[in-house]
Amino acid sequence: MISKEIEQIIIDAIKGERKITFLVGAGLSAESGIPTFRGKDGFWTDGSRNYTPQEIGTKKMFDVAFDQVWRWFLYRISICNKAVPNQGHIELSKIENLIPDRFSLISQNVDGLHFRKETNTQNVFLIHGDLRFMRCSEECTKNVFPIPTAIIEKDRDRNTPFTYDESLLLVCPNCGEPTRPHVLWFDEYYNEHHYHLHKVLKIAKDTGLLFIIGTSGATNLPQKIVENTLKRQGAVIDINPNDNLFTKKIDQLKNGYRVQENSSATLTAIRKIIEKNV
Ligand SMILES: [Zn+2]
Repeated sequence: MISKEIEQIIIDAIKGERKITFLVGAGLSAESGIPTFRGKDGFWTDGSRNYTPQEIGTKKMFDVAFDQVWRWFLYRISICNKAVPNQGHIELSKIENLIPDRFSLISQNVDGLHFRKETNTQNVFLIHGDLRFMRCSEECTKNVFPIPTAIIEKDRDRNTPFTYDESLLLVCPNCGEPTRPHVLWFDEYYNEHHYHLHKVLKIAKDTGLLFIIGTSGATNLPQKIVENTLKRQGAVIDINPNDNLFTKKIDQLKNGYRVQENSSATLTAIRKIIEKNV
């Protein structure tokens, strides 16, 4: 499934000195049963109204419907908490152990699956935030806080209402204003402090081989990361079972390669190549 040509590119990168970077998206966590929340799985019904994820996952909505937005996120958090890392997450942590000084993981996933006992990946940059945490909606501090354990996870139905007492737990310990989920909303842009914008662009420049796994590249940061790697003659290998606009672009690049397979099996093959050649 990994061609001889691509295997040689991986071996050349291992023999080199530059960073080996993995940019991962929702496709990696799909095998753990976590939906993307961009499509139909993200739809949210409140009474007679249906919200799209692009409507409810916004600062604009949070400012007028704190409880609805939190309830949607608490439902997503419950799905993430029940999920377990799949082989792909585990292989990434094994690869980190093989090349700890050169490994970077840039992840769009907010599900926390890189940080479980069986994964425990260290060099991770979360560019869309982390659902395990909340932060002050007024930005009085840049710190993030764990979601209080007393908050009850929500389902899609009305069996788990969002209570007044719970809303009192979702306040900033510093100033008492409401907290928000620590994630990038659809109507916000990346920044350095919360989403490592400059750091990941720098990593991309220092990267000799960039793997792109399970992302449709729907936001512009993944595209910039790819551009930065290519500018310095790095190679890019896209692993994605399905075609999308992003993968078609990769086809046209001089240093772009594709593996049209699922992420876990491909990551196992990559880990074995690295193991043999470090
Ligand atoms: Zn505050």
